[in-house]
Amino acid sequence: MAYKITEECTNCGACESECKNEAIKKGETIYIIDPERCTECIGWYESSKCAELCVLNACVPDPAHKETREQLLAKWKKIHPGKTPQAT
Ligand code: SF4
Repeated sequence: MAYKITEECTNCGACESECKNEAIKKGETIYIIDPERCTECIGWYESSKCAELCVLNACVPDPAHKETREQLLAKWKKIHPGKTPQAT
């Protein structure tokens, strides 16, 4: 399931550069995650980088976007055509 950023976000921006799917962008008030690009980092890593680095725990799974591991991997392949996943 895609991640989302909660109101705890203080706009430090640390997560944006960590997302290899370029799913994180600055929003009007807080940073936001594009669920069409978030794969829980599947395809790159074993765990979610934004969630790991956020000291405020503002990056959390979004129950509104439930997806299987297979669906997340398929999303990754669509975002990165021709590339080989590094973590599945
Ligand atoms: Fe990007 Fe991974 Fe965070 Fe999703 S979980 S927004 S892919 S860093």
